[in-house]
Amino acid sequence: MTGIGAPAPGTTLRMVLGDQLSPGISALRDLDPERDVVLMAEVAAEATYVRHHPQKIVFFLSAMRHFAAELEAAGVPVDYVRLDDPGNTGTLGGEVARAVARHRAVRVIATEAGEWRLAADMAGWQARAGVPVEIREDDRFLCPHAVFAEWAEERREFRMEHFYRVMRRRTGILMDGGGPAGGRWNFDAENRRRLPDGVEPPPVPGIAPDDVTRAVIALVRDRFGGHFGDLDGFGYAVTRSDAEALWERFVVERLPRFGDYQDAMAHGRPFLFHAVVAPYLNVGLLGARAMLARVVRAWRDGSVPLNAAEGFVRQILGWREYVRGIYWQQGPEYAARNALGADRALPAFFWSGDTDMACLAACIGDTRRHAYAHHIQRLMVIGNFALLIGADPAAVNRWYLEVYADAVEWVQLPNTHGMVLHADGGLLGSKPYAASGRYIQRMSDYCGGCRHRPDVAVGPEACPFNALYWHFLDRNRATLGGNPRLAMPYRTLDRFEPDRRDALLRQAGRFLAQLA
Ligand SMILES: Cc1cc2nc3c(=O)[nH]c(=O)nc-3n(C[C@H](O)[C@H](O)[C@H](O)COP(=O)(O)OP(=O)(O)OC[C@H]3O[C@@H](n4cnc5c(N)ncnc54)[C@H](O)[C@@H]3O)c2cc1C
Ligand code: SF4
Repeated sequence: MTGIGAPAPGTTLRMVLGDQLSPGISALRDLDPERDVVLMAEVAAEATYVRHHPQKIVFFLSAMRHFAAELEAAGVPVDYVRLDDPGNTGTLGGEVARAVARHRAVRVIATEAGEWRLAADMAGWQARAGVPVEIREDDRFLCPHAVFAEWAEERREFRMEHFYRVMRRRTGILMDGGGPAGGRWNFDAENRRRLPDGVEPPPVPGIAPDDVTRAVIALVRDRFGGHFGDLDGFGYAVTRSDAEALWERFVVERLPRFGDYQDAMAHGRPFLFHAVVAPYLNVGLLGARAMLARVVRAWRDGSVPLNAAEGFVRQILGWREYVRGIYWQQGPEYAARNALGADRALPAFFWSGDTDMACLAACIGDTRRHAYAHHIQRLMVIGNFALLIGADPAAVNRWYLEVYADAVEWVQLPNTHGMVLHADGGLLGSKPYAASGRYIQRMSDYCGGCRHRPDVAVGPEACPFNALYWHFLDRNRATLGGNPRLAMPYRTLDRFEPDRRDALLRQAGRFLAQLA
């Protein structure tokens, strides 16, 4: 513990969780540095509830330690419990109770947790600590729970596009008068370019670890070195100022072409024109409102075209807020759904990357090296494959939660369970994002270096995605056959000659049988 004298009577304990590293977080509002103490705790329960990528653990712990130092430098007393401190109970509830006793605190103030698991834990803090616990709303998000609930109540179908337009109107972001800037809500059609030869994305700079981060790296290597993922080359920002500097470089160097190449994939270039900011946003080193204001300013001053600005605003104001709304509106039973009855174990190469499918080897390799893959790699390569083989949603959800530095459940789960696996029966997406090898060929350069051929569906050279695509449609006909958005592929499947169809299904069957 640092920076604290004798505990004052009437001390309020202000709890700050690992994803609440924002000076303006509601738990710190009205803080009195003369009387109050901020509690931050590294606990084993958070570091181990899944086998997180080592870079993800380093990022969270180092960002927490730097945030504590930032508060202390501003004169705020912080009681910081480290993972290896003697007496650490290993749980947040245990640490709150210990700190209440230590400081003779008369109440606890916290900001609501980001996920169900922790919200349930928090509900028990008051009984455990024996003092009142006030839980405040997390108002870093642009759509309060009540606003999402009202929006959802009025609808049978939850579509992101409808929600996004409501949010544009509500916030006035990229609006001109009553309508969308540029006269259109959506520039997706212009945002699907393959990366042409000769276009080289500017590099994403890494941040050299300082002493604090180096100490955390040693701790993580010692305690969690056996988890999937490389630790060498850790380059994430762990302070607000570094995260802001990286963000500004993105706005100047990559945002202008973010829209054009949003869906492109390229071997050895995992970041392309993406922002690589989700970890910073999710823990609170960056704030969504300030980012959106910066993007709008860049568009207004002419340094960023509208298709890029709108494409980016759609991700933050649209998708990010929408999946959070769905997560809280649906509750924990959402994760238990399995609309397509999928139950296959994840193949071992999800952890080794050892596969002759070049696209999967590249995307899993990027994930191992950087705890990062961009959206289309997650959705249309790794996710698409998991969907087509009928992988067990619980195993897939767990994998995604483990392997990305930005993986926190409220955003990971709807994306994986809903968007990728359609396990929610279409609540989040009107159809599964199933695709054959042709899509991957169109949007990437992976196929050129692959032993399979994306234009072949049957035989030893065939791209596995092709036959798997038809097998997926065939075996899920009872659930998906009536979906109007899949009418065309089902018509195509039904027009195949019986021999062709049998050959495709046999090809996929053989592939599935040898998966281990
Ligand atoms: C299967 C799957 C799992 C995912 N898991 C996570 C996760 O655990 N954590 C996470 O933050 N994002 C997740 N996403 C969304 C998205 O892929 C990542 O936010 C993005 O790749 C992060 O990289 P970036 O910062 O370079 O994003 P960019 O492509 O530059 O986009 C900018 C920002 O928009 C937001 N965003 C973009 N797409 C989405 C989306 N679909 N849902 C919510 N926010 C979005 C993110 O905050 C992101 O940082 C997942 C997507 C899929 C398909
Ligand atoms: S041929 Fe098929 S397996 Fe190989 S990289 Fe292309 S899509 Fe992937």
